Amino acid sequence: MTWNSGSLARKFERAGALGELASAGRRSNGAGIGSGGHQRTPAASMSCIAVDGGPADVCANCGKGSSGGEGGVKLKDCTACRLVKYCGVDCQRAHRKQHKKACKQRAAELKDEQLFSQGLERPERHICPICALPIPLPMAEHSIFESCCMKMICTGCTMAAQKRGMFDCAFCRTPMPENDADTLAMIQARVAKKDPAATALLGYKYFFGDDGLQKDMRKGVELYTEAANLGAVDALFSLGVAHERGKGVKQDMAKAAELYEKAAIQGCLMSRHKLGCFEVKARRNYVRALRHWLISAKMGHKDSVETIKNMFMDGIATKEQYAEALKGYRDAVEEMKSHDRDEASALMKS
Ligand SMILES: [Zn+2]
Ligand SMILES: [Zn+2]
Ligand SMILES: [Zn+2]
Ligand SMILES: [Zn+2]
Repeated sequence: MTWNSGSLARKFERAGALGELASAGRRSNGAGIGSGGHQRTPAASMSCIAVDGGPADVCANCGKGSSGGEGGVKLKDCTACRLVKYCGVDCQRAHRKQHKKACKQRAAELKDEQLFSQGLERPERHICPICALPIPLPMAEHSIFESCCMKMICTGCTMAAQKRGMFDCAFCRTPMPENDADTLAMIQARVAKKDPAATALLGYKYFFGDDGLQKDMRKGVELYTEAANLGAVDALFSLGVAHERGKGVKQDMAKAAELYEKAAIQGCLMSRHKLGCFEVKARRNYVRALRHWLISAKMGHKDSVETIKNMFMDGIATKEQYAEALKGYRDAVEEMKSHDRDEASALMKS
């Protein structure tokens, strides 16, 4: 059998890849860059910090020492900030009013540390399991979502397999489903087994009315929620979009931001880009927006690098920041290239 582009195109259609991933990457979220980004002053020095920098070994309220010697008490950290310790709930309660501000500030810092230090690499799911290279963006255009094993296979590997006469799933060798009903049955069987990716995919199919399913955005959101609880990063992003736009669920920007944060620290670069947009739209905080976009640009997100370019031209980002973003972006794109992928995309265009 010879390789033909028609079968690949059909396979694309059949596979019904997660389209929102594609559309999310395609359109710029129009972070209108104006002037005058505001910068927060560095965290003011806080009370409740022991002289040595760690939590003091005494109750922050009554001053009782820990159980080093006899008659000591067992002290517990304030779990939100870990700056202070208490001998019990009563002392914690009594100290609350005094401690609240410093606690909140430190808790926010801890959250930020996590937000900006995690999720700098693409999640495992976004790496082709055959060639081990990250899938280029938009992923729906550069990969096939196989309903048999729920793997996203890059177009390069799919094409290479077809050239060798293999038209079954390039990963698990299951024959391609004959029709929409067979595809759905395959997905549903995996949903029944609580497969996160399958649950997210079924959610997508309801949300958009794909594969002959009656469009039902509410049901889609339900399935996204289930998939997110099972650990599907893509479902967190889809849920974020649903909340942001008020589709299938009541519009809730705070919830959307929370979902994007959860996804971003797991490497979802579309969520990371969205967080940058939120910073600008909700807080006009260009400094934080730039931090997010630098991360997503370096992961290969085109809109992010374009936005940083605009920021540079508007005098908000420095030349060095733009250069860093551009270099990171180019390196990421380079890393996603392969001979098979080049060949596949040339064929898709022809
Ligand atoms: Zn106490
Ligand atoms: Zn605290
Ligand atoms: Zn591949
Ligand atoms: Zn498979």
